[in-house]
Amino acid sequence: MSAHDIKLFGDQIAASRIELKFAGLKAASLLRLAIQELFPGRIALVSSFGAESAVLLHMVAEIDKATPVVFVDTGQLFPETLAYRDELCARLGLTNVIVATPNEALLANEDPEKFLFASDPDRCCEIRKVLPLAEALEGYEAWITGRKGYQSVTRSTLPLFEAEGERVKVNPLVGWSATDILDYIKRAGLPPHPLVAKGYPSIGCLPCTTPVRPGEDARAGRWRGRGKIECGIHVGALSSAGQDI
Ligand code: SF4
Repeated sequence: MSAHDIKLFGDQIAASRIELKFAGLKAASLLRLAIQELFPGRIALVSSFGAESAVLLHMVAEIDKATPVVFVDTGQLFPETLAYRDELCARLGLTNVIVATPNEALLANEDPEKFLFASDPDRCCEIRKVLPLAEALEGYEAWITGRKGYQSVTRSTLPLFEAEGERVKVNPLVGWSATDILDYIKRAGLPPHPLVAKGYPSIGCLPCTTPVRPGEDARAGRWRGRGKIECGIHVGALSSAGQDI
């Protein structure tokens, strides 16, 4: 199975076939294969520079520091996250970090006071996260996500490879536990996100993230009490259509 096959089939059947072939690989080997052999020059890591992002950022930097890393700055992030991004990029020597930002006209039209998160969080995520990411990923054949199976019930059955429209999503850490993540960060001497010590195992936008209590899912603090569990970037195929007003 090759990148050509994936493009040819462009669906979950092809993704499942590469899953079977490479299921035994360790995360770092899988990443190397995806970056250097399956999608050379056509794959990006999408990183939130959140609580566990250092693992994939470190692995990618070890393979090729010029790998595109897409970071969506929603305009509502914690200042600690922006500082952590700068610290990690400098530490790891990443040279191709692409900052995707929301469309200014959309923001001016729909969220001028930055309170859309309160009245319509789905639309807020759409214009602040989903559309900017979709635009940033145009032209790539694949992207790497940091989702883990243990993060929530809805992520417990994630595959290593997923079809996303005509692109492929690679999820190298699906089988990792929270302990695996912590061990890797410690072993590699990577700095933790400063909010982890304050009870945030999963970190999104400031208005929509609260600390997590013992026994809760790692993502229980995201949109707490709002009946929302995902921002939308992993729901269906991404499309940047709708940015124009
Ligand atoms: S997480 Fe909250 S503030 Fe951030 S884009 Fe979504 S709704 Fe808006």
